[in-house]
Amino acid sequence: MIYKRSSQLFSEAQKVIPGGVNSPVRAFKAVGGDPIFVEKAKGAYLFDVDGNRLIDYINSWGPMILGHAHEPVVKAVIDKAEKGTSFGMPTAIETDIAAMAVRMVPNIDKIRFVNSGTEACMSAVRLARGFTRKDKIIKFAGCYHGHSDSFLIEAGSGAVTFGVPNSPGVTEGTAKDTLLATYNDLKSVAQLIAENVDEIACVIIEPVAGNMGCIPPTEGFLEGLRKLCDENEILLIFDEVMTGFRLAKGGVQELYRVNADIVTFGKVIGGGLPVGAFAAREEIMNHLAPLGPVYQAGTLSGNPLAMAAGLAMLTELNENSKIFESLAAKTEYLHKGITKVLSENNVIHTVNRVGSMISVHFSETPVTDFKTAALANNDTFKKFFHGMLAEGVYIAPSAFETWFLCDALTYDDLDQTILACKKVASNL
Ligand code: PMP
Repeated sequence: MIYKRSSQLFSEAQKVIPGGVNSPVRAFKAVGGDPIFVEKAKGAYLFDVDGNRLIDYINSWGPMILGHAHEPVVKAVIDKAEKGTSFGMPTAIETDIAAMAVRMVPNIDKIRFVNSGTEACMSAVRLARGFTRKDKIIKFAGCYHGHSDSFLIEAGSGAVTFGVPNSPGVTEGTAKDTLLATYNDLKSVAQLIAENVDEIACVIIEPVAGNMGCIPPTEGFLEGLRKLCDENEILLIFDEVMTGFRLAKGGVQELYRVNADIVTFGKVIGGGLPVGAFAAREEIMNHLAPLGPVYQAGTLSGNPLAMAAGLAMLTELNENSKIFESLAAKTEYLHKGITKVLSENNVIHTVNRVGSMISVHFSETPVTDFKTAALANNDTFKKFFHGMLAEGVYIAPSAFETWFLCDALTYDDLDQTILACKKVASNL
């Protein structure tokens, strides 16, 4: 495939946009080469500026669960745009989508809409701190909750009690309030709680992790977290920015039957427009301004175009009860196909999957946390990525990302992907 025009556009972009991109992973730094510039997309396919067609396994990092330019979503946005694009005043559609989300997701009474997953998680933590009147938070190494200061902390070697900022600009003062635990390791959480008695406001987690590749919670892990939080008056925040409205109507709470105190959303809930949200039961949500003292606001929050896209998307997911099974079945088919061709070619690998989230780790050991994810062979991943791209299949340009399937994918697309994988595997 030829990517001449993409490379030209990338050179031009680099002159006026830092690194040529508005979000770092798009720059292909982890895999090398120039990023692909998109012209348009429809269903399961991306069409780039050089005229190439790619089968898309990113789907805008999750939102396009029904495929690109899905007609009811596009129509809803166009209809709304004709009536004005922003008012900074209440509109009825905000209540419509809120009511639908509250019906679909267990254990929440009220929801507030924001403009991104970052904002949702940042606001959820502020609310947890305001509600509990405690300062510290526990997060897990390898989990990503957006680029707000308190989340840009990752584990150093060994057990780290106080976080270390890993982005310049995050102050030591902020970092010291973020404690790091190990994913799928309840003991690491219990230890932090024991060392910080009555100081921890919340535990925030990706209940199925997607930001170190896909990593499912091990049996009993989420239940154990729930218990630890209950015993210590700590709020449990499920960051369902990736998993919400993707793994089940009610997200991970429904799938694993574990209740969270606060849930955050992004991606699918906005139908591809910039939307995030956070939700909880009434006693917690009533702490928010204007009812309560915890301040949170947004000029474009509840934006009519974003709400129209989100409502069209949720309506379809709510009405089509088979969609999550259909997505999981397609992903399982892909999983089996990829495992078969990689094994036949003696490529060391581990595939992790939950529902329609899947990732291939070029690793011998099971991948259960950040440390084991980091053991995977990145050189093999790079070759795999570029090999798949050359075959017309677009997967995440980093080993620490998950692939998201959309329902527009046909079994023919999946067979083409497995065939591509077979060809690539023979050269790995
Ligand atoms: N939480 C999770 C689990 C995410 O995966 C992401 C983004 N990938 C975020 C939060 C941040 O969302 P956004 O990029 O919309 O700010």
